[in-house]
Amino acid sequence: MRKKITVIGAGIVGMATASYLRRDGHDVTVVTMHPPGEYCSSGNAGMLNDAGCVPQAMPGVLWKVPGYLMDPLGPLVVRWPYLVKSMPWMLRFLANANARQAERASIALYSLIRGTVSTYEELVKWAGATGLVRRSGYLVAYASDKSYQNDALAWRLRRARGVRMETLDGAGIRGLVPQLAPAYERGVHVLDQGYVANPERLVKALAARFQKDGGVILERKVLDIETGEGGVRALATDAGSIPVETLVICAGVHSGELTASLGEPVPIEAERGYHVTYSDPGLQIPMPVHVSDAKVFVTPMEMGVRVAGQAEFAGIYAEPNYRRAEVLEIHMKRMFPQARMTDATRWMGRRPAMPDSLPVIGASVKQKGVFYAFGHGHLGLCGGAPTGRLIADLVAGRRPAIDLTPFRVDRF
Ligand SMILES: Cc1cc2nc3c(=O)[nH]c(=O)nc-3n(C[C@H](O)[C@H](O)[C@H](O)COP(=O)(O)OP(=O)(O)OC[C@H]3O[C@@H](n4cnc5c(N)ncnc54)[C@H](O)[C@@H]3O)c2cc1C
Repeated sequence: MRKKITVIGAGIVGMATASYLRRDGHDVTVVTMHPPGEYCSSGNAGMLNDAGCVPQAMPGVLWKVPGYLMDPLGPLVVRWPYLVKSMPWMLRFLANANARQAERASIALYSLIRGTVSTYEELVKWAGATGLVRRSGYLVAYASDKSYQNDALAWRLRRARGVRMETLDGAGIRGLVPQLAPAYERGVHVLDQGYVANPERLVKALAARFQKDGGVILERKVLDIETGEGGVRALATDAGSIPVETLVICAGVHSGELTASLGEPVPIEAERGYHVTYSDPGLQIPMPVHVSDAKVFVTPMEMGVRVAGQAEFAGIYAEPNYRRAEVLEIHMKRMFPQARMTDATRWMGRRPAMPDSLPVIGASVKQKGVFYAFGHGHLGLCGGAPTGRLIADLVAGRRPAIDLTPFRVDRF
């Protein structure tokens, strides 16, 4: 049955969801306060890796945190004034950092993002932007056998899910990515993975095809959601009220502000990350490279080479601290000493992070006609298209392809 559906958010999750819903023949309107793809989904590392099926909350993380915080080049920063405010989220995060939860989260994440590359290949073909998705595998590099061993549990989880990989010595690493510095002695070539050569253009391509097919995009900020006996009624926006029948919330890190107004608060934090993109670094990098200790990805993109990473907790609204981007530049220099590091652009984005590393995907428990698709943290690109397909199934009353229990909104 053809429905009238409103989607809040035009990041990768919102635009993929709107695209699948439109393809099902519904009347779909997207309401977004940023142009399509210009919020967190613009500047990510582009990875489409089902090897990402490892939660952030891993056993032993508590003991690593002090070292991360004290290291000026470390991957984690908490702005001290924000620590108290983020404490409830941090405690939930730490409560998930045990082997049982890590296994459960890994199974759930893999069920969601498995086959993400083929899912996107089909979607970008529909959008007429095929060159954007590249199959390449990726390299994870370690400076020592000890750091490789420190990641043993993560590799066990990936192997248990069926991710294919080959371990490498220094010569093997250089064979794969000759320009990577000789300091890296251990590596893993993760097979069957891919990446998006321009994440912002991907979202814009979906938006263009969606509009061409009759979808509507309104640039407005949603201030409140009005409900009545029968469920949601209207969105109060900065440019007037919009009547709604079926509503999907894909508002990234702002989703918590909206679900709270529906009586379903969720623990969501802004895990802020940074990137630096070099337009002409003079490198030939055949595949993305991840240095696990620094938690940094270097991805060859159509606009240059991007180094991305960092986890900064400072809330949604604090100004960027581009000192974190300088840290990424230092790691880039270590990885690729011959890189030409002029002509660089810097960016900060807010990952919508849940304390158990799992997004919220599914129907509201309290409001009829409301669906949620947010909280993908480090995996919003990988999980965006698969999530959109699942929401389209739920809206149509089709049985979703995976068990959505781990992603329920009322799990907290
Ligand atoms: C440095 C970095 C590297 C990353 N690398 C990867 C990677 O390699 N692979 C991967 O899978 N993921 C990666 N991620 C994570 C990924 O980018 C995010 O998970 C993803 O972009 C989230 O998408 P989204 O659509 O949920 O949110 P967003 O892209 O943030 O979009 C949210 C949308 O909601 C709208 N909105 C919010 N509130 C309102 C409101 N009140 N009214 C109207 N509109 C509203 C916004 O305007 C926006 O359009 C990375 C993130 C960072 C920061």
